[in-house]
Amino acid sequence: MPPRRSTASVIDTKRERSSSSSLSDAPPTITKTTSKAKAKSKSNGTKTAVKSKTTDADDAIAGDDVEAKTETEAEPPKKKARVAKAKIWPPPELAPESHPARHGYPIFTLPSTSKASNGALPPSTTEARPMLLGAHVSIAGGPAGALLRAGKAGANGLAMFTKSQRQWKSNPFEPEAIERFRNLMKSKEEGGLGYPPESILVHGSYLINLGNPDESKWNTSYECFKDDIYRCHQLGIKLYNWHPGSTVGACTKQESFASIAKAINRVHKEVPEVVTVIENMANAGSNIVGTAFPELAAIIGLVEDKTRVRVCLDTCHLFAAGYDLRTPEAYAETMRKFDEEVGNGYLGGIHLNDSKADLAGNKDLHENIGLGKIGLTGFRCLMRDPLMSGIPLVLETPAPEKALEVGDLAIWMKEIKLLYEIQAMDDKDWILKKVEIEDRWRKERDSINPPKEKAPKGKAASKNKKKGKKEESEDDDDE
Ligand SMILES: [Zn+2]
Ligand SMILES: [Zn+2]
Repeated sequence: MPPRRSTASVIDTKRERSSSSSLSDAPPTITKTTSKAKAKSKSNGTKTAVKSKTTDADDAIAGDDVEAKTETEAEPPKKKARVAKAKIWPPPELAPESHPARHGYPIFTLPSTSKASNGALPPSTTEARPMLLGAHVSIAGGPAGALLRAGKAGANGLAMFTKSQRQWKSNPFEPEAIERFRNLMKSKEEGGLGYPPESILVHGSYLINLGNPDESKWNTSYECFKDDIYRCHQLGIKLYNWHPGSTVGACTKQESFASIAKAINRVHKEVPEVVTVIENMANAGSNIVGTAFPELAAIIGLVEDKTRVRVCLDTCHLFAAGYDLRTPEAYAETMRKFDEEVGNGYLGGIHLNDSKADLAGNKDLHENIGLGKIGLTGFRCLMRDPLMSGIPLVLETPAPEKALEVGDLAIWMKEIKLLYEIQAMDDKDWILKKVEIEDRWRKERDSINPPKEKAPKGKAASKNKKKGKKEESEDDDDE
């Protein structure tokens, strides 16, 4: 499936709009038409782009300043009350004083993490390193909001967008937004929340397709890609993850690998420092690039500066593409293949998602941890794997369609706790309590995010739903 996010982000973004009134910088409704029109007219014709019928909420996600500027570009505002931004910072509902203690350091001591056989960025501290476990959080109200939300969820790591993920262009960050972000990244001693660069993995725009051989479309994608990466650089972020792209049926996979590597090489020259992290994809056998390890390796092989390229493994995508993770043996075999075919030294991040679809089902349907076809055992293996130390481990699991600060954070906070809980259990205990824990967790999840009645799957089903709010269902594929 084309790379896109729905579970977390689309719902996310929808909620961003609905909940944004609780934030200080509420986006004006007027941007709706603008973003839709833009996305349509500039669609580059890839599957990704075609699917980019933006939910109105996209623009909600952009930087601090976006609201004000889009307002001036668009028709004269009908209600100017929305423009008045009460700049209360931080927003009271996200204030750091109300954050729970971070469930930071692993209860389970990972063997010899000092070796760092993965491609983690150098640690910012000499202290024992926590697992950088967290979630993909919203930047509604400005990028610094992501750090506040991560803090509120008890996360040590996080993912975020740097702009609307379904729009080609967003306004640049205001200096104030950058400063807030950089201040919050600092350690607690320095007045921040302690999110060093190795703990943040930005997710790129869904519109980007650098595998498309069409030159003008490639150029449009490249500009968006570079802009994403430049924004990371501005914020002091060093890890940028995106979906490699698709041949769109117009060229061979090898030609796509070359186009993608060309973009990586060029951006490495045009923007300093930021490491480009390629995400594995779900749709083996399609035009989508990066579903199998050898494809990721082929792209990396063409990158000139290999210190600035990594891979992010999405567990749902792995499973969908036929890489099993359900048992300790299957997990070990998948990771052995990764090391053999790509190399552990390239592992730069993980997207933690269970899968609603079967092994090798080629469907990108995220499910809450342990409640899908992968199951808790697979995630326990991952949490106990020393290879996972020092890299962002990011939940992109479905969250309820409630107000942003309530729904998302409630479910991710529970998942973070759960992952540490199962990590700490020894094998004997695990065998005894596995079923009990799963039952308990399923009930907890259902109480926060009750499973919805399944409509027929696929695009048609989504289209049949009421236009607008319900347009993208939880069943759509994800990031
Ligand atoms: Zn992902
Ligand atoms: Zn993704």
